[in-house]
Amino acid sequence: MDSKDNLKLANQDSAGYRDRVATIDEDGKRTWIYPKKPKGKYYNYRTWLSYVLLFLMFAGPFMRVNSQPVLLLNILERKFIILGMAFWPQDFHLFVIAMITGVVAILLFTSIFGRLFCGWVCPQTVFMEMLFRKIEYFIEGDASNQRKLDRQALNIEKIFKKTIKHVIFFALSFLIGNTLLAYIIGSDELIHIITDPINSHMQGLMVMMLFSLAFYYVFSQFREQACTMVCPYGRFQSVLLDDRSIVISYDFVRGEPRGKLEKHPNSEKGDCIDCGHCIDVCPTGIDIRNGTQLECVNCTACMDACDNIMTKIGREPNLIRYASSYGIETGETKIMTSRAYGYSAILIILIAVLSLLLFTRSDVEASILRAAGSLYYELPSKVIRNLYTVKVVNKTFDVMPIRFELAEPEGNIVIQGNAIIVEPQQIGKGQFFVDLKHQELTGYRTTIVIDVFFGDRKIETVHTNFMGPENE
Ligand code: SF4
Ligand code: SF4
Repeated sequence: MDSKDNLKLANQDSAGYRDRVATIDEDGKRTWIYPKKPKGKYYNYRTWLSYVLLFLMFAGPFMRVNSQPVLLLNILERKFIILGMAFWPQDFHLFVIAMITGVVAILLFTSIFGRLFCGWVCPQTVFMEMLFRKIEYFIEGDASNQRKLDRQALNIEKIFKKTIKHVIFFALSFLIGNTLLAYIIGSDELIHIITDPINSHMQGLMVMMLFSLAFYYVFSQFREQACTMVCPYGRFQSVLLDDRSIVISYDFVRGEPRGKLEKHPNSEKGDCIDCGHCIDVCPTGIDIRNGTQLECVNCTACMDACDNIMTKIGREPNLIRYASSYGIETGETKIMTSRAYGYSAILIILIAVLSLLLFTRSDVEASILRAAGSLYYELPSKVIRNLYTVKVVNKTFDVMPIRFELAEPEGNIVIQGNAIIVEPQQIGKGQFFVDLKHQELTGYRTTIVIDVFFGDRKIETVHTNFMGPENE
């Protein structure tokens, strides 16, 4: 019996999985999933990682780099701060490149490592499996107790447990909503709103309640359906994955033909003892032995469950493991194929380009243009004068006194009015004259080069036009 026969065998029992998602029954009704609490090394790793991620998520709005927020995405005021660096709408090109890099990274990463992101770092999975689900296990017990509680008639125990659970769920949803709001308006503003009298922010509170209710609904009711029915990333899996992608896979070569554990092992049988533990722990209710499926969020629960069983019956673990279907069929164990190296190289190049653009990004953006509608005029001693308007965007958090020098050709800059001093995160405007001797002109239109200085530091060089009479 070869590996293809084993795959057919693995699929034959439950071909119905192709017709509908596991959480919808034949009548189209929701099937509520009661996953058994996972136990094992991968679950422990994920738990530790979730502590770090949850800490970063909740502490993020209060973290500072150079006294500025680590992340602020104030869409309303078009103010964006990432790692303490302020980004303006003028930096839109960086945003576009970052988006392209992000999308390419996701595409490439997924084609190599499958839904690793979903299982380990996606906020939906981290909140659902590492926060809400754990609270549920703590209050209602493991899967069988939860099932029993749901089926039993309303009594004191049920009312007590359900009330406590839903109050905590709503409080957590409210906290999540407020944390996300802090990423938009900033932690200082959020604290200001919280400490103000409640009736001065009634409207905002109502909006926050609606957001909290939405989160509460997702984590208490909608759950795995967010991954299987709503998340676009999940829906894209079928086009992003191929037989070389590393996903959580059942080793059908080793596992089939499956069968109950026998006292005297039958050499014809595979290692899967058909205990169903991998299905019991699955939060999306699928049988991974049917192969990669849309619902699988790569949460590793089935790996732990199967490893525990294999250890108990004295067989090698890793019957369910990170592997590609090609790897399982051929025995190839190499994770990094030439394709993976190629993809990784593209990704590294994109990240390098983005980093270069970010680190060479100017703190100040100056635009210098001839004053609209103005003409040149001649001063004594054959000096030609043009009037310019200047706009300086200060992207930093410091006050910036700005100075201009004419780099080319030889001439003078005469500032009109006060020197330009731009406040932090503001746009400064001003005017100046440029005076050139007649012999410096190259024609009706002469290109001039102006250096913009902050103190002694040259922050930008601007090329613009100077109008004058044609040289005789
Ligand atoms: S099949 Fe395994 S990895 Fe996939 S969602 Fe279910 S338990 Fe998690
Ligand atoms: S947990 Fe392992 S042995 Fe049990 S049914 Fe799943 S794959 Fe087979």
